[in-house]
Amino acid sequence: MATDVEIAQQFTPRPITEISDALGIDREHLHPYGRDIAKIDLKALNGKSGKKGHLILVSATTPTPSGEGKTTTTIGLGQAFTQLNESVCLALREPSLGPCLGMKGGATGGGYSQIIPADRINLHFTGDFHAITSANNLLSAAIDNHIFHGNQLGIDPRQIAWRRVMDMNDRSLRKIVVGLGGKNQGIPREGGFDITAASEVMAMLCLADNAEDLKRRLDRTLVGYNYQNEPVYAAQLDVTGAMMALLRDAMQPNLVQSFEGTPAFVHGGPFANIAHGCNSVIATRMAMQHADWAITEAGFGFDLGAEKFFDIKCRIAELDPDAVVLVTTVRALKMHGGKAKDNLESEDLEALQQGLGNLDKHIESVELFNKHPVVALNRFASDTDAEVALVRARCIALGVSFAETTHHADGGKGSVELAKVVMASIKKNSPFQPLYDLDLPVVEKVRAVCKAMYGADDVAFTKDAEQDLKHVEMLGLTDLPICIAKAPSSLSDDPELHGRPRGFEVTVRQIQINAGAGFLVILTGKIMRMPGLPKKPAASNMQLMESGIIEGLE
Ligand code: ADP
Ligand code: MG
Repeated sequence: MATDVEIAQQFTPRPITEISDALGIDREHLHPYGRDIAKIDLKALNGKSGKKGHLILVSATTPTPSGEGKTTTTIGLGQAFTQLNESVCLALREPSLGPCLGMKGGATGGGYSQIIPADRINLHFTGDFHAITSANNLLSAAIDNHIFHGNQLGIDPRQIAWRRVMDMNDRSLRKIVVGLGGKNQGIPREGGFDITAASEVMAMLCLADNAEDLKRRLDRTLVGYNYQNEPVYAAQLDVTGAMMALLRDAMQPNLVQSFEGTPAFVHGGPFANIAHGCNSVIATRMAMQHADWAITEAGFGFDLGAEKFFDIKCRIAELDPDAVVLVTTVRALKMHGGKAKDNLESEDLEALQQGLGNLDKHIESVELFNKHPVVALNRFASDTDAEVALVRARCIALGVSFAETTHHADGGKGSVELAKVVMASIKKNSPFQPLYDLDLPVVEKVRAVCKAMYGADDVAFTKDAEQDLKHVEMLGLTDLPICIAKAPSSLSDDPELHGRPRGFEVTVRQIQINAGAGFLVILTGKIMRMPGLPKKPAASNMQLMESGIIEGLE
C-alpha cells in the first residue's frame, strides 16, 4: 500500500484562485500564500444575513490512540458531495505540531482523502500557531515585566493563572521556575508551558465573531489575582492591542483544497480534551456562506468534541447542524469489546459484538441533542464482510441510518452512499437542544454532562475544585458554559475503561476560569495541558529528502 506522501504526489493542486472563484469569493478578498494556499479577508463574510448552507457535523465513537478517521471521513464525504456535483465546502481544524511529531501524526486525512499541501498544512502552514503563541507569550512577558517594574497592580506571583505556551510536546516545561539569576532577571516564581492548542488565545480566536469580539475577549481574560485576592484582567496589562496586532492575519481563515478539488477552510485548532475542540466560528460561517453544504469535524469522540460543539460553539455562534455523522471503525469497537490494541486486525465477531455498546451509547448521545445520527463505518482493509454486517445490523435494529465508506482507498466515490444517506437525514432533524441551561449551578451543569454524555452515576468535587468554585462565584461567572477536560480514550474519566462503562463517578479535580474564551474548564482525571512525546515519537520517522519532499509525515 502506498504511503500518504506517495499518494499525494499523484495529485497536482489547482491554483487556489480557481478554488476561491468556484466558491464565489471576490479576488480582492483573497490573500494568497503561494500557489495553493490563501487567507480570506473577513470582509468576505456578510454577517448573519448572508446565504446559509446546510451544516454537517462529523464526530465519532470513542477512538483508539491513532484516531478513527473523522478528518479522513470529513474529507472523503466532501469529495463525495463534489462528485455528486453539489456545492460543498469543508471547515477543519489546523494541525498542531504536538500530535504531528508525537503520537498521532498529521491531521490532513489519509489515503485518497487528504487535503493538500499536507506537509505545509501539518508543519507551519500560514503561521497561525506562531501568531497565537506570540500573542499568548506577550501577555506572559508583560505580567512578569509589570512585577519587575514595581508591580503597581500588586499581582501576587503565587496566583498567576496565565501560562506560557509553545507548539511542542515537551513535558519538561510543564512546571518551571522563571526569573532565576538575581536582581536583574525578574522576580522568581513558579510558571510553566502549555501546548499552543491549549492556549486560551486559541479558544478565543476560534469562538470570536470578528476582531471587535476577539479584542473584548482578550481584555476580559483573567490572568491571576493581586495580594488582596482580587482578579487581574489582561486589559490592565496594556498589551491586548498589541496581541490583536499579532493576531490580525491569524484571524483570517485559510483556504486549501482536497485531492479532488473540494474547498476546505482550515482554521484554528483547539484540542478537544482540554479546550472546545472545533475549528473557528469564522471558518464554519465562511464555509456555510459560500456553499450549499458545509462539513465540519469535532474532535475525539462525540462525548468530548461534539458535546462542546453543541453546548459551547453552537450556543455562542447560533449554529445548528442539519446532519450529524458518527464515524466508527470495526477496529475501535473490537478494542472496546476487550481485544488487545496490537491485535485489532484479525476477525473477532465476539469482541466486536461486545464493543457495540460503545456505539449504542454515542447513538443515544446524538439523539439527546434532537439529532438523527448517520453511522459511517470507516472501512479498513483488514475488516471482514461479516464484521461490517454485524455493525450494519445493529444500526438497522436501532433505527439509525448507516453507510459503509471506503474513501480512504477509493477517494470521494467511496463515500457517495454516505453522502446520499446524509442528505436524506436532514429532514429527520429538529433544532438542537442543549444539554443544560446556562443559569443552572455549575455543579448541576457538570452533573448533567457527566450523566447524559458519559453515562456516569454521579460527580464528586475535590476540595481544590470546591475552592475553585468559590472563585467562579466571586467573579460572577457561574453562567458560563462548561468545557470538561477528560480522557479521550474512554467514555469515563478513567482512560483504561473501554466499551460502555457503567456505575462510575467522575471526579472533578480543578476548575480553570477561561473568562476570555467564555467557558469554565472542568478538569477531571490527570489531563495534561502540555503533552509529552512517546518513547518512539512520529518525529523519528520523518526525513527531508533531497527533492524537498518530506517523508514520514503521515
Ligand atoms: P481522526 O480525525 O478521527 O483523529 P484521522 O482521519 O486523522 O482520524 O485518521 C487517523 C489515521 O488513520 C490517519 O493516519 C488516517 O490516514 C488513517 N486512516 C483513516 N481511515 C483509514 C482507513 N479506512 N484505512 C486505513 N487507514 C485509515
Ligand atoms: Mg481529526
